[in-house]
Amino acid sequence: MPLSLTDPVSNIHGVGPKTEAILNKAGIKTVRDLLYYLPRTYENFTETTTLSEIKPGKVVIRGKISDLKTSHTRRRNLTITEGVIRDATDAIRVVWFNQPYRAKQFDETKEYYFIGNYDLNHGHYQLISPKAELAVDVDRKNAHNSSFRPVYPARGAFKSEGFHKIIESIRPDFASIPDLFPKEVMAKTSARAEALFKAHFAENDNDIRTAREYLAYEELFELILASKLNKQENQKLQAKTIPFFPDDIKLFVNSLKFKLTNAQRLATYEILKDLEKTTPMNRLLQGDVGSGKTVVAAISAYSAIRSGHQVALLAPTAILAAQHAESLAKLLEPFNIKVALLIGSTKQKTTLKNQIKSGEVNLIVGTHALLTDDTEFNSMALTIIDEQHRFGVDQRQKLLEKTVKSTGLAPHLLMMTATPIPRSLQLAVFGDLDVSVLNELPAGRQPVLTKIISELQFVETLYPTVSAYLAKKQQVYWICKIIEENGQSDAVSVKKQARKLEGIFRKARIAFIHGRMKSNEKDDIMKKFAAGKIDILVSTTVVEVGVNVPNANLMVIMDADDYGLAQLHQLRGRVGRGHDSAICYLVTNHDQPSRRLKELEKSNDGFYLAEADLKLRGPGEIYGSLQHGALNLQFASLSDSHLIAAASKSANAFAAICAKEPKTLNRYPELMQCIKQYQQLTTLN
Ligand code: ADP
Ligand code: MG
Repeated sequence: MPLSLTDPVSNIHGVGPKTEAILNKAGIKTVRDLLYYLPRTYENFTETTTLSEIKPGKVVIRGKISDLKTSHTRRRNLTITEGVIRDATDAIRVVWFNQPYRAKQFDETKEYYFIGNYDLNHGHYQLISPKAELAVDVDRKNAHNSSFRPVYPARGAFKSEGFHKIIESIRPDFASIPDLFPKEVMAKTSARAEALFKAHFAENDNDIRTAREYLAYEELFELILASKLNKQENQKLQAKTIPFFPDDIKLFVNSLKFKLTNAQRLATYEILKDLEKTTPMNRLLQGDVGSGKTVVAAISAYSAIRSGHQVALLAPTAILAAQHAESLAKLLEPFNIKVALLIGSTKQKTTLKNQIKSGEVNLIVGTHALLTDDTEFNSMALTIIDEQHRFGVDQRQKLLEKTVKSTGLAPHLLMMTATPIPRSLQLAVFGDLDVSVLNELPAGRQPVLTKIISELQFVETLYPTVSAYLAKKQQVYWICKIIEENGQSDAVSVKKQARKLEGIFRKARIAFIHGRMKSNEKDDIMKKFAAGKIDILVSTTVVEVGVNVPNANLMVIMDADDYGLAQLHQLRGRVGRGHDSAICYLVTNHDQPSRRLKELEKSNDGFYLAEADLKLRGPGEIYGSLQHGALNLQFASLSDSHLIAAASKSANAFAAICAKEPKTLNRYPELMQCIKQYQQLTTLN
């Protein structure tokens, strides 16, 4: 009897209770889980290097080992085992750390394969901590099957070899892996069985490519189908209707110090129209940095509160929440609307929570701290989530539960993001969301002048510019990659940079901020910076999203090559938020600046940059948080546009069938299970 995908791993011959426990702990409960636990990479024993031709990097060597000895270092408490590997052409040194058994493992008369990194260690090239296997064993295996060896991610003490053995033992079962795709959209094929087989038993690069392509397609199909079905589900839910009173809205808009941009007007209109409906709104407000999303959120909140309801705004960090609370209070309090901030460090939480429960507070702004069990709403009708991709499924679920508890109805949902998604991907990736776009900056905003420079130009170019900005009483952000020196990165640290600047700009008030500080310390520094009491703020990327200090108009980003394009654009968006001209320096020590940096120098348009990014990046590099955090794609990359188009077509077709015949999906329990994880991503339901 072949194994079935839903069988527990203990059904596999040779998997005893001990192995089962380890696998379960790693989240591998069923045969399916195991089949989808894929190699991280592959080793190829046929590509050996002779020692006379060895170059630094990953190498496979065939040779004999001798002169083994082990020593201890007291300072770092390491055991070091060293030896010499020889082949017919030359000899090299080899070293292992904390693997004392290596000294006794080898027979000096026999040949071994060594796979590892040939790299500098204390100034000498050595083969560092290689894996080793007896050459005759490897050769015998290679004669039988492939010379490609999968390397599985280890799980604690359970190493790649362990996974390899189990998978090897179920090799015959691969042929009977059933299709995942419903027969309604795809004729029966053996595509999945083949892809998984090739992934685990790859014999060449082509196998790996075929496997990945199929798995990416499967993943995209699930993602897109999930979002389509979400939309169908969402349309069955009930929400409070919030009437649209144009005169009232006009009154509010006229109270603003500025004229709304056309994009803001249109987005607001789309939102207010949605709020009138009995089905919950599920809308994404996409606006480039500085495009003015906050005021759109404020008008939406105003409309809901004016009709007697509460609104919650959820922000990813305490800094952002505090800032939102402050700017929303400024806009809304003249209309007798009470805004409150609820974050981890909020004092007198009990009093505040009582006011939220009684309905005395109309707009609650907070971090996940507002999701604790003892926060109860009075009449929640609209939930706004800033930087939505930073929130997890659980947090959104909590928000939904709280709302339903207060009103018996689902909330309208407005999500905001400053990470533009290329139009070509929008429908596919967020197919269940309606999208409003702020593709226009407020009038009078000047683009941020962006310049790539090297540290050699600091004295001549950068420092005089900084002095000039300080003389104009303008403020400066100085972004560093790391908090302090750590021996793992040669990036400039926040602490070191701050000390250095203190020596250079002696009269300036300099402070630093980073994510490891306590949140009240961070708040304190941000407040001082916003109030103009700090001239130069040296910071990690904690200031990346949303921070709004219009008087800060100069930014220096150290080690700019270490960031993705989207992230650099976000960082740069912290300056040029007022009427003054702003400059952003991208510091690189490379002779040839990367394409990423050049694109940034060229453009200030987030939508253009998103497209450029899509063309430039390697799989999974950028949109990091979007791709990996929120969408959790393992195989597909958002740049696989042909795959996205194809997967989108089949997903649409199947969703349409499900709409007509709701029981269809029940016939595919595995698929149902797979799309569940995605289904909770983009909506609250
Ligand atoms: P983001 O979309 O990045 O969140 P904000 O909502 O923080 O942008 O707005 C950035 C700045 O622009 C704020 O200081 C805000 O008051 C201002 N602003 C917003 N809309 C307009 C407008 N229509 N005209 C002028 N300034 C505006
Ligand atoms: Mg914002």
